[in-house]
Amino acid sequence: MVDVIKDLSVFFPGQVLSGQQVSAKYSVDWSGESAHTPDIVVRAKTVFDVSKLLAFCNKSSLPIVTQGGMTGLSGGSTPQGSEIVLSLELLSGITDVDVESMTITALAGTPLEQLQQAANDVGFYLPLDLGARGSCTIGGNVATNAGGNQVLSYGMTRALVLGLEAVTADGTVIRSMNKMLKNNAGYDLKQLFVGSEGTLGVVTEVVLRLYPKPLTKQSALCGFSNFSQVVSFLQYMQRNFSRVTTFELMWDNYVKQVRQMNQQLMPVLADDHSFYVLIEIEGNDPARDDDCFNWKLQACLDAGLLNDAVVAQSERDVNRFWQLRDGVIDILAKVKYRANFDIGVPISQMASFVHTVEVELVASFKNLQLCTFGHMADGNLHIIAWTGREDDVDSIYERVYTLVGTVGGTITAEHGIGTMKRQYLSLCRSEQEIDLMRALKKAMDPNNILNPGRVI
Ligand SMILES: Cc1cc2nc3c(=O)[nH]c(=O)nc-3n(C[C@H](O)[C@H](O)[C@H](O)COP(=O)(O)OP(=O)(O)OC[C@H]3O[C@@H](n4cnc5c(N)ncnc54)[C@H](O)[C@@H]3O)c2cc1C
Repeated sequence: MVDVIKDLSVFFPGQVLSGQQVSAKYSVDWSGESAHTPDIVVRAKTVFDVSKLLAFCNKSSLPIVTQGGMTGLSGGSTPQGSEIVLSLELLSGITDVDVESMTITALAGTPLEQLQQAANDVGFYLPLDLGARGSCTIGGNVATNAGGNQVLSYGMTRALVLGLEAVTADGTVIRSMNKMLKNNAGYDLKQLFVGSEGTLGVVTEVVLRLYPKPLTKQSALCGFSNFSQVVSFLQYMQRNFSRVTTFELMWDNYVKQVRQMNQQLMPVLADDHSFYVLIEIEGNDPARDDDCFNWKLQACLDAGLLNDAVVAQSERDVNRFWQLRDGVIDILAKVKYRANFDIGVPISQMASFVHTVEVELVASFKNLQLCTFGHMADGNLHIIAWTGREDDVDSIYERVYTLVGTVGGTITAEHGIGTMKRQYLSLCRSEQEIDLMRALKKAMDPNNILNPGRVI
Protein backbone atom coordinates (compact mmCIF):
# COMPACT_ATOMS: atom_id res chain seq x y z
CA MET A 1 0.00 0.00 0.00
CA VAL A 2 2.91 2.37 0.74
CA ASP A 3 4.03 2.15 -2.92
CA VAL A 4 0.49 2.74 -4.17
CA ILE A 5 0.15 5.83 -1.96
CA LYS A 6 3.49 7.10 -3.31
CA ASP A 7 2.46 6.54 -6.96
CA LEU A 8 -0.96 8.10 -6.51
CA SER A 9 0.50 11.12 -4.69
CA VAL A 10 2.68 11.74 -7.74
CA PHE A 11 -0.25 11.37 -10.18
CA PHE A 12 -2.63 13.49 -8.08
CA PRO A 13 -0.60 16.05 -6.13
CA GLY A 14 -2.57 17.49 -3.19
CA GLN A 15 -5.57 15.23 -3.90
CA VAL A 16 -4.59 12.08 -2.01
CA LEU A 17 -5.44 11.51 1.65
CA SER A 18 -3.88 8.69 3.68
CA GLY A 19 -3.31 7.70 7.32
CA GLN A 20 -4.39 10.42 9.77
CA GLN A 21 -5.65 12.63 6.94
CA VAL A 22 -8.55 10.26 6.27
CA SER A 23 -11.49 11.51 8.33
CA ALA A 24 -14.40 9.38 9.54
CA LYS A 25 -16.75 10.71 6.83
CA TYR A 26 -15.12 8.38 4.27
CA SER A 27 -15.70 5.30 6.46
CA VAL A 28 -19.42 4.60 6.24
CA ASP A 29 -22.58 5.70 4.44
CA TRP A 30 -25.91 6.52 6.08
CA SER A 31 -26.72 2.83 6.52
CA GLY A 32 -24.26 2.95 9.44
CA GLU A 33 -23.24 -0.64 8.59
CA SER A 34 -19.69 -2.03 8.95
CA ALA A 35 -17.70 1.22 9.03
CA HIS A 36 -14.16 0.80 7.74
CA THR A 37 -11.50 3.49 7.46
CA PRO A 38 -9.87 3.33 4.01
CA ASP A 39 -6.09 3.50 3.56
CA ILE A 40 -6.32 5.89 0.62
CA VAL A 41 -8.80 8.51 -0.57
CA VAL A 42 -8.29 10.09 -4.00
CA ARG A 43 -10.29 13.28 -4.50
CA ALA A 44 -10.82 13.64 -8.24
CA LYS A 45 -11.28 17.16 -9.62
CA THR A 46 -11.80 16.35 -13.30
CA VAL A 47 -12.96 13.52 -15.51
CA PHE A 48 -9.31 13.07 -16.52
CA ASP A 49 -8.42 12.40 -12.86
CA VAL A 50 -11.11 9.71 -12.75
CA SER A 51 -9.90 8.22 -16.03
CA LYS A 52 -6.27 8.19 -14.88
CA LEU A 53 -7.12 6.59 -11.53
CA LEU A 54 -9.27 3.87 -13.09
CA ALA A 55 -6.65 3.04 -15.74
CA PHE A 56 -3.99 2.79 -13.02
CA CYS A 57 -6.12 0.58 -10.76
CA ASN A 58 -7.31 -1.60 -13.62
CA LYS A 59 -3.76 -2.33 -14.69
CA SER A 60 -2.84 -3.54 -11.19
CA SER A 61 -6.30 -5.00 -10.34
CA LEU A 62 -6.70 -2.62 -7.38
CA PRO A 63 -10.30 -2.37 -6.18
CA ILE A 64 -12.04 1.03 -5.96
CA VAL A 65 -15.17 2.24 -4.23
CA THR A 66 -16.80 5.42 -5.53
CA GLN A 67 -18.22 7.90 -3.03
CA GLY A 68 -20.72 10.69 -3.70
CA GLY A 69 -22.55 12.27 -0.76
CA MET A 70 -22.49 9.05 1.36
CA THR A 71 -26.24 9.27 2.02
CA GLY A 72 -26.83 5.81 0.53
CA LEU A 73 -28.64 3.34 2.76
CA SER A 74 -27.31 0.04 1.34
CA GLY A 75 -23.64 0.14 2.30
CA GLY A 76 -22.63 0.62 -1.37
CA SER A 77 -20.15 3.45 -0.79
CA THR A 78 -18.76 2.09 2.49
CA PRO A 79 -15.16 0.96 1.84
CA GLN A 80 -14.21 -2.66 2.36
CA GLY A 81 -10.79 -4.28 2.80
CA SER A 82 -8.08 -2.60 0.75
CA GLU A 83 -10.41 -0.62 -1.54
CA ILE A 84 -9.19 2.79 -2.66
CA VAL A 85 -11.84 5.46 -2.17
CA LEU A 86 -12.58 7.58 -5.21
CA SER A 87 -14.30 10.64 -3.76
CA LEU A 88 -16.18 12.91 -6.16
CA GLU A 89 -16.72 15.70 -3.62
CA LEU A 90 -14.41 18.07 -5.57
CA LEU A 91 -15.87 17.20 -8.97
CA SER A 92 -18.69 19.62 -8.37
CA GLY A 93 -20.44 22.47 -10.15
CA ILE A 94 -23.15 23.28 -12.69
CA THR A 95 -21.68 23.33 -16.20
CA ASP A 96 -24.67 24.38 -18.31
CA VAL A 97 -28.25 25.59 -17.99
CA ASP A 98 -30.00 25.48 -21.36
CA VAL A 99 -33.31 27.28 -20.97
CA GLU A 100 -34.51 26.62 -24.52
CA SER A 101 -33.82 22.89 -24.40
CA MET A 102 -34.99 22.86 -20.76
CA THR A 103 -31.91 21.00 -19.49
CA ILE A 104 -29.38 21.42 -16.72
CA THR A 105 -25.92 19.86 -16.75
CA ALA A 106 -23.72 19.29 -13.70
CA LEU A 107 -20.61 17.46 -12.58
CA ALA A 108 -21.28 14.28 -10.62
CA GLY A 109 -20.32 15.57 -7.16
CA THR A 110 -22.80 18.47 -7.23
CA PRO A 111 -25.32 18.28 -4.36
CA LEU A 112 -28.89 17.76 -5.60
CA GLU A 113 -30.13 20.87 -3.78
CA GLN A 114 -27.72 23.06 -5.79
CA LEU A 115 -29.24 21.82 -9.02
CA GLN A 116 -32.77 22.39 -7.74
CA GLN A 117 -31.81 25.95 -6.79
CA ALA A 118 -30.10 26.68 -10.12
CA ALA A 119 -33.15 25.46 -12.03
CA ASN A 120 -35.40 27.57 -9.84
CA ASP A 121 -33.23 30.65 -10.43
CA VAL A 122 -34.02 30.55 -14.16
CA GLY A 123 -37.75 29.86 -13.65
CA PHE A 124 -37.60 26.09 -14.15
CA TYR A 125 -38.05 23.06 -12.01
CA LEU A 126 -36.01 19.92 -11.36
CA PRO A 127 -38.57 17.53 -9.88
CA LEU A 128 -36.10 15.05 -8.38
CA ASP A 129 -36.41 15.47 -4.61
CA LEU A 130 -35.50 13.44 -1.55
CA GLY A 131 -34.90 13.99 2.14
CA ALA A 132 -31.11 13.84 1.66
CA ARG A 133 -31.19 16.64 -0.97
CA GLY A 134 -28.63 18.82 0.87
CA SER A 135 -25.92 16.13 0.95
CA CYS A 136 -26.62 13.58 -1.78
CA THR A 137 -24.93 14.19 -5.13
CA ILE A 138 -26.39 14.01 -8.61
CA GLY A 139 -23.85 11.30 -9.51
CA GLY A 140 -25.03 9.25 -6.52
CA ASN A 141 -28.66 9.86 -7.50
CA VAL A 142 -27.95 8.57 -11.00
CA ALA A 143 -25.89 5.62 -9.77
CA THR A 144 -28.73 4.55 -7.45
CA ASN A 145 -31.58 5.62 -9.79
CA ALA A 146 -32.95 7.53 -6.81
CA GLY A 147 -36.71 7.78 -6.35
CA GLY A 148 -37.98 10.22 -3.79
CA ASN A 149 -41.10 12.24 -3.20
CA GLN A 150 -42.38 12.97 -6.72
CA VAL A 151 -41.90 9.75 -8.67
CA LEU A 152 -45.65 9.41 -9.15
CA SER A 153 -45.67 12.36 -11.57
CA TYR A 154 -42.13 12.65 -12.84
CA GLY A 155 -40.66 9.15 -12.65
CA MET A 156 -37.41 8.05 -11.04
CA THR A 157 -34.01 9.62 -11.78
CA ARG A 158 -33.79 7.43 -14.88
CA ALA A 159 -36.70 9.36 -16.43
CA LEU A 160 -34.93 12.68 -15.91
CA VAL A 161 -31.47 11.74 -17.23
CA LEU A 162 -31.12 12.74 -20.89
CA GLY A 163 -27.39 12.28 -21.17
CA LEU A 164 -24.28 11.58 -19.16
CA GLU A 165 -20.55 11.11 -19.16
CA ALA A 166 -19.07 8.04 -17.49
CA VAL A 167 -15.67 6.42 -17.15
CA THR A 168 -15.42 2.67 -17.59
CA ALA A 169 -13.10 0.37 -15.64
CA ASP A 170 -10.15 0.71 -18.03
CA GLY A 171 -10.31 4.52 -17.91
CA THR A 172 -12.23 5.04 -21.17
CA VAL A 173 -14.38 8.18 -21.09
CA ILE A 174 -17.82 7.63 -22.61
CA ARG A 175 -19.25 11.06 -23.36
CA SER A 176 -22.94 10.77 -24.17
CA MET A 177 -24.25 14.23 -23.34
CA ASN A 178 -27.55 14.00 -25.21
CA LYS A 179 -30.01 16.86 -24.58
CA MET A 180 -32.98 15.59 -26.61
CA LEU A 181 -36.02 13.67 -25.44
CA LYS A 182 -35.66 11.28 -28.36
CA ASN A 183 -32.54 9.52 -29.55
CA ASN A 184 -32.84 6.02 -30.94
CA ALA A 185 -29.38 5.77 -32.49
CA GLY A 186 -28.31 2.38 -31.23
CA TYR A 187 -28.32 1.17 -27.63
CA ASP A 188 -29.24 3.70 -24.96
CA LEU A 189 -25.89 3.34 -23.20
CA LYS A 190 -26.58 5.87 -20.45
CA GLN A 191 -29.14 3.50 -18.94
CA LEU A 192 -26.34 0.99 -18.26
CA PHE A 193 -24.93 3.40 -15.70
CA VAL A 194 -28.24 4.56 -14.20
CA GLY A 195 -29.01 2.38 -11.20
CA SER A 196 -25.94 0.15 -11.57
CA GLU A 197 -24.59 1.50 -8.26
CA GLY A 198 -21.11 2.25 -9.54
CA THR A 199 -20.42 -1.34 -10.61
CA LEU A 200 -20.23 -0.67 -14.37
CA GLY A 201 -18.59 2.76 -14.47
CA VAL A 202 -18.12 6.06 -12.68
CA VAL A 203 -20.59 8.79 -13.66
CA THR A 204 -18.78 12.12 -14.00
CA GLU A 205 -21.33 14.51 -15.53
CA VAL A 206 -25.09 14.44 -16.07
CA VAL A 207 -27.64 16.20 -18.33
CA LEU A 208 -31.08 16.37 -16.72
CA ARG A 209 -34.48 17.29 -18.03
CA LEU A 210 -36.18 20.37 -16.54
CA TYR A 211 -39.87 21.17 -16.34
CA PRO A 212 -41.70 24.50 -16.32
CA LYS A 213 -42.14 25.61 -12.71
CA PRO A 214 -45.74 24.87 -11.64
CA LEU A 215 -47.67 28.02 -10.69
CA THR A 216 -49.59 26.47 -7.81
CA LYS A 217 -49.08 23.73 -5.28
CA GLN A 218 -51.57 22.42 -2.74
CA SER A 219 -50.74 20.20 0.21
CA ALA A 220 -52.95 18.39 2.68
CA LEU A 221 -52.56 15.90 5.50
CA CYS A 222 -55.42 13.41 5.55
CA GLY A 223 -56.58 10.74 8.00
CA PHE A 224 -58.13 7.34 7.16
CA SER A 225 -59.43 4.39 9.11
CA ASN A 226 -58.67 1.69 6.56
CA PHE A 227 -56.40 0.90 3.61
CA SER A 228 -59.13 0.56 0.98
CA GLN A 229 -60.14 4.17 1.68
CA VAL A 230 -56.52 5.16 0.95
CA VAL A 231 -56.53 3.33 -2.41
CA SER A 232 -59.90 4.82 -3.45
CA PHE A 233 -58.74 8.30 -2.42
CA LEU A 234 -55.52 7.94 -4.47
CA GLN A 235 -57.43 6.88 -7.57
CA TYR A 236 -60.03 9.63 -7.14
CA MET A 237 -57.34 12.31 -6.88
CA GLN A 238 -55.44 10.92 -9.89
CA ARG A 239 -58.64 11.00 -11.94
CA ASN A 240 -59.32 14.60 -10.96
CA PHE A 241 -55.84 16.15 -11.04
CA SER A 242 -53.25 15.69 -13.75
CA ARG A 243 -50.30 16.16 -11.39
CA VAL A 244 -50.58 14.36 -8.06
CA THR A 245 -46.89 14.67 -7.24
CA THR A 246 -46.77 13.32 -3.72
CA PHE A 247 -48.71 10.60 -1.97
CA GLU A 248 -46.87 9.65 1.21
CA LEU A 249 -48.62 7.09 3.37
CA MET A 250 -47.84 6.72 7.08
CA TRP A 251 -49.23 3.96 9.27
CA ASP A 252 -50.25 5.04 12.79
CA ASN A 253 -47.26 3.13 14.27
CA TYR A 254 -44.92 5.42 12.30
CA VAL A 255 -46.65 8.63 13.36
CA LYS A 256 -46.65 7.55 17.03
CA GLN A 257 -42.95 6.68 16.86
CA VAL A 258 -41.99 10.00 15.25
CA ARG A 259 -44.02 11.96 17.82
CA GLN A 260 -42.45 10.02 20.64
CA MET A 261 -38.96 10.83 19.35
CA ASN A 262 -39.72 14.47 18.71
CA GLN A 263 -42.09 15.69 21.42
CA GLN A 264 -42.13 19.19 19.90
CA LEU A 265 -44.12 17.87 16.96
CA MET A 266 -47.75 18.89 17.51
CA PRO A 267 -50.54 16.77 15.99
CA VAL A 268 -51.87 18.23 12.72
CA LEU A 269 -55.23 16.44 12.75
CA ALA A 270 -57.61 16.67 15.71
CA ASP A 271 -58.01 12.88 16.12
CA ASP A 272 -55.79 9.85 15.74
CA HIS A 273 -56.20 7.72 12.61
CA SER A 274 -55.04 4.33 11.39
CA PHE A 275 -53.43 5.83 8.26
CA TYR A 276 -52.20 9.29 7.31
CA VAL A 277 -51.49 10.59 3.80
CA LEU A 278 -49.49 13.65 2.85
CA ILE A 279 -50.77 14.57 -0.61
CA GLU A 280 -49.49 17.32 -2.91
CA ILE A 281 -50.93 18.52 -6.21
CA GLU A 282 -49.36 20.84 -8.75
CA GLY A 283 -51.30 23.08 -11.10
CA ASN A 284 -51.15 26.18 -13.25
CA ASP A 285 -54.35 28.10 -12.51
CA PRO A 286 -53.79 30.38 -9.49
CA ALA A 287 -57.37 31.68 -9.65
CA ARG A 288 -59.01 28.27 -9.27
CA ASP A 289 -56.59 25.59 -8.06
CA ASP A 290 -56.98 26.19 -4.29
CA ASP A 291 -60.77 26.09 -4.47
CA CYS A 292 -60.77 23.07 -6.71
CA PHE A 293 -58.49 21.15 -4.30
CA ASN A 294 -60.76 22.06 -1.34
CA TRP A 295 -63.92 21.00 -3.21
CA LYS A 296 -62.46 17.67 -4.20
CA LEU A 297 -61.31 16.95 -0.64
CA GLN A 298 -64.78 17.87 0.61
CA ALA A 299 -66.29 15.51 -1.96
CA CYS A 300 -64.03 12.73 -0.65
CA LEU A 301 -65.06 13.47 2.93
CA ASP A 302 -68.74 13.38 1.92
CA ALA A 303 -68.26 10.10 0.07
CA GLY A 304 -66.42 8.52 3.01
CA LEU A 305 -63.14 8.19 1.08
CA LEU A 306 -61.34 9.90 3.93
CA ASN A 307 -62.10 10.73 7.56
CA ASP A 308 -60.41 14.09 8.02
CA ALA A 309 -58.08 16.48 6.20
CA VAL A 310 -56.14 19.65 6.94
CA VAL A 311 -55.15 21.79 3.95
CA ALA A 312 -51.95 23.84 4.21
CA GLN A 313 -52.64 27.58 4.29
CA SER A 314 -49.02 28.66 4.36
CA GLU A 315 -45.45 27.46 3.79
CA ARG A 316 -45.27 26.95 7.56
CA ASP A 317 -48.13 24.44 7.38
CA VAL A 318 -46.42 22.62 4.51
CA ASN A 319 -43.26 22.37 6.60
CA ARG A 320 -45.25 20.99 9.53
CA PHE A 321 -46.69 18.24 7.34
CA TRP A 322 -43.24 17.37 5.99
CA GLN A 323 -41.73 17.36 9.49
CA LEU A 324 -43.90 14.35 10.19
CA ARG A 325 -42.78 12.53 7.02
CA ASP A 326 -39.13 13.55 7.43
CA GLY A 327 -39.25 12.41 11.08
CA VAL A 328 -37.72 9.18 9.76
CA ILE A 329 -34.35 10.95 10.09
CA ASP A 330 -34.79 10.92 13.90
CA ILE A 331 -35.58 7.21 13.83
CA LEU A 332 -32.54 6.45 11.64
CA ALA A 333 -30.31 8.56 13.87
CA LYS A 334 -31.58 7.27 17.23
CA VAL A 335 -32.30 3.58 16.72
CA LYS A 336 -29.07 1.64 16.67
CA TYR A 337 -29.76 -1.97 15.74
CA ARG A 338 -32.47 -1.72 13.11
CA ALA A 339 -33.60 -3.50 9.98
CA ASN A 340 -34.41 -0.79 7.47
CA PHE A 341 -36.46 -1.83 4.44
CA ASP A 342 -37.31 -0.05 1.18
CA ILE A 343 -39.28 -2.83 -0.39
CA GLY A 344 -41.74 -2.72 -3.26
CA VAL A 345 -45.05 -4.56 -3.09
CA PRO A 346 -48.02 -4.39 -5.50
CA ILE A 347 -50.61 -2.00 -4.04
CA SER A 348 -53.26 -4.73 -4.21
CA GLN A 349 -51.23 -6.82 -1.72
CA MET A 350 -49.81 -4.05 0.44
CA ALA A 351 -52.24 -4.06 3.36
CA SER A 352 -52.24 -7.83 3.81
CA PHE A 353 -48.46 -7.97 3.35
CA VAL A 354 -47.85 -5.41 6.10
CA HIS A 355 -50.28 -7.25 8.36
CA THR A 356 -48.47 -10.56 7.78
CA VAL A 357 -45.08 -8.96 8.44
CA GLU A 358 -46.35 -7.49 11.67
CA VAL A 359 -47.92 -10.73 12.89
CA GLU A 360 -44.86 -12.84 11.98
CA LEU A 361 -42.31 -10.49 13.46
CA VAL A 362 -44.23 -9.87 16.67
CA ALA A 363 -44.63 -13.63 17.12
CA SER A 364 -40.93 -14.31 16.49
CA PHE A 365 -39.06 -11.47 18.19
CA LYS A 366 -39.34 -10.23 21.76
CA ASN A 367 -39.81 -6.44 22.22
CA LEU A 368 -40.30 -5.87 18.51
CA GLN A 369 -40.92 -2.28 17.45
CA LEU A 370 -42.05 -1.55 13.94
CA CYS A 371 -43.03 1.44 11.88
CA THR A 372 -44.32 1.53 8.33
CA PHE A 373 -44.57 4.39 5.85
CA GLY A 374 -43.54 5.19 2.31
CA HIS A 375 -44.17 6.29 -1.25
CA MET A 376 -47.26 4.09 -1.34
CA ALA A 377 -48.52 5.16 -4.77
CA ASP A 378 -45.22 3.92 -6.26
CA GLY A 379 -45.74 0.55 -4.53
CA ASN A 380 -42.77 1.45 -2.32
CA LEU A 381 -42.85 0.87 1.43
CA HIS A 382 -40.35 1.60 4.14
CA ILE A 383 -40.48 -0.60 7.22
CA ILE A 384 -38.11 -0.05 10.11
CA ALA A 385 -38.04 -2.86 12.68
CA TRP A 386 -35.92 -3.31 15.79
CA THR A 387 -35.76 -5.11 19.10
CA GLY A 388 -32.74 -3.43 20.67
CA ARG A 389 -30.66 -6.57 20.06
CA GLU A 390 -28.03 -6.61 17.33
CA ASP A 391 -28.38 -10.38 16.92
CA ASP A 392 -31.98 -10.06 15.71
CA VAL A 393 -31.29 -7.72 12.80
CA ASP A 394 -30.21 -10.33 10.21
CA SER A 395 -33.07 -12.66 11.09
CA ILE A 396 -35.57 -9.80 10.68
CA TYR A 397 -34.10 -8.99 7.25
CA GLU A 398 -34.32 -12.61 6.17
CA ARG A 399 -37.89 -13.06 7.39
CA VAL A 400 -39.23 -9.94 5.65
CA TYR A 401 -37.32 -10.43 2.37
CA THR A 402 -38.61 -13.98 2.14
CA LEU A 403 -42.16 -12.66 2.50
CA VAL A 404 -41.46 -10.05 -0.20
CA GLY A 405 -40.45 -12.85 -2.57
CA THR A 406 -43.75 -14.66 -2.02
CA VAL A 407 -45.86 -11.67 -3.17
CA GLY A 408 -43.81 -10.87 -6.29
CA GLY A 409 -42.35 -7.72 -4.75
CA THR A 410 -38.85 -6.28 -4.79
CA ILE A 411 -36.36 -6.19 -1.94
CA THR A 412 -35.40 -2.66 -2.94
CA ALA A 413 -37.60 -0.12 -4.69
CA GLU A 414 -35.14 2.74 -4.51
CA HIS A 415 -32.08 2.47 -2.24
CA GLY A 416 -30.42 -0.28 -4.27
CA ILE A 417 -28.72 -3.55 -3.39
CA GLY A 418 -25.31 -2.29 -2.23
CA THR A 419 -23.59 -4.85 -0.02
CA MET A 420 -26.46 -5.30 2.40
CA LYS A 421 -29.07 -6.91 0.13
CA ARG A 422 -26.83 -8.82 -2.23
CA GLN A 423 -27.48 -12.20 -0.67
CA TYR A 424 -31.24 -11.70 -1.15
CA LEU A 425 -31.19 -10.65 -4.83
CA SER A 426 -32.38 -14.05 -6.02
CA LEU A 427 -35.60 -13.60 -4.03
CA CYS A 428 -36.77 -11.01 -6.55
CA ARG A 429 -34.67 -11.59 -9.71
CA SER A 430 -34.60 -14.79 -11.76
CA GLU A 431 -31.47 -16.87 -12.36
CA GLN A 432 -31.47 -15.72 -16.00
CA GLU A 433 -31.68 -12.06 -14.98
CA ILE A 434 -28.80 -12.45 -12.54
CA ASP A 435 -26.72 -14.33 -15.16
CA LEU A 436 -27.20 -11.45 -17.62
CA MET A 437 -26.21 -8.94 -14.91
CA ARG A 438 -23.04 -10.99 -14.27
CA ALA A 439 -22.24 -11.12 -18.00
CA LEU A 440 -22.58 -7.32 -18.26
CA LYS A 441 -20.34 -6.82 -15.25
CA LYS A 442 -17.70 -9.18 -16.66
CA ALA A 443 -17.76 -7.48 -20.05
CA MET A 444 -17.45 -3.97 -18.65
CA ASP A 445 -15.21 -4.61 -15.64
CA PRO A 446 -13.27 -7.84 -16.31
CA ASN A 447 -10.86 -7.27 -13.41
CA ASN A 448 -13.73 -6.54 -11.00
CA ILE A 449 -12.23 -3.29 -9.72
CA LEU A 450 -15.39 -1.14 -9.60
CA ASN A 451 -17.36 -1.44 -6.35
CA PRO A 452 -16.64 -5.17 -6.04
CA GLY A 453 -19.09 -7.14 -3.90
CA ARG A 454 -21.93 -4.71 -4.55
CA VAL A 455 -25.17 -5.68 -6.33
CA ILE A 456 -24.08 -9.11 -7.69
C1 LIG B 1 -32.66 11.13 5.04
C2 LIG B 1 -32.53 10.33 3.80
C3 LIG B 1 -33.60 10.25 2.91
C4 LIG B 1 -33.47 9.52 1.73
N1 LIG B 1 -34.53 9.46 0.89
C5 LIG B 1 -34.44 8.76 -0.26
C6 LIG B 1 -35.54 8.69 -1.17
O1 LIG B 1 -36.61 9.23 -0.93
N2 LIG B 1 -35.36 8.01 -2.32
C7 LIG B 1 -34.17 7.39 -2.63
O2 LIG B 1 -34.06 6.79 -3.71
N3 LIG B 1 -33.13 7.41 -1.77
C8 LIG B 1 -33.23 8.08 -0.61
N4 LIG B 1 -32.16 8.11 0.26
C9 LIG B 1 -30.94 7.36 -0.07
C10 LIG B 1 -29.84 8.21 -0.75
O3 LIG B 1 -29.98 9.56 -0.46
C11 LIG B 1 -29.84 7.99 -2.26
O4 LIG B 1 -29.50 6.67 -2.55
C12 LIG B 1 -28.87 8.91 -3.02
O5 LIG B 1 -29.16 8.82 -4.40
C13 LIG B 1 -27.39 8.58 -2.78
O6 LIG B 1 -26.60 9.65 -3.29
P1 LIG B 1 -25.13 9.91 -2.72
O7 LIG B 1 -24.49 10.96 -3.52
O8 LIG B 1 -25.19 10.17 -1.25
O9 LIG B 1 -24.44 8.52 -3.03
P2 LIG B 1 -23.47 7.62 -2.12
O10 LIG B 1 -24.17 7.21 -0.87
O11 LIG B 1 -22.17 8.26 -1.98
O12 LIG B 1 -23.32 6.34 -3.07
C14 LIG B 1 -24.41 5.49 -3.34
C15 LIG B 1 -23.96 4.42 -4.35
O13 LIG B 1 -23.69 5.03 -5.61
C16 LIG B 1 -22.31 4.88 -5.98
N5 LIG B 1 -21.90 6.17 -6.55
C17 LIG B 1 -21.95 7.39 -5.98
N6 LIG B 1 -21.59 8.33 -6.85
C18 LIG B 1 -21.30 7.69 -8.01
C19 LIG B 1 -20.88 8.12 -9.29
N7 LIG B 1 -20.68 9.41 -9.58
N8 LIG B 1 -20.66 7.19 -10.25
C20 LIG B 1 -20.85 5.88 -10.00
N9 LIG B 1 -21.26 5.42 -8.80
C21 LIG B 1 -21.49 6.32 -7.82
C22 LIG B 1 -21.60 4.51 -4.70
O14 LIG B 1 -20.44 3.74 -4.96
C23 LIG B 1 -22.67 3.73 -3.97
O15 LIG B 1 -22.71 2.41 -4.46
C24 LIG B 1 -32.26 8.83 1.45
C25 LIG B 1 -31.19 8.90 2.35
C26 LIG B 1 -31.32 9.63 3.52
C27 LIG B 1 -30.15 9.69 4.43
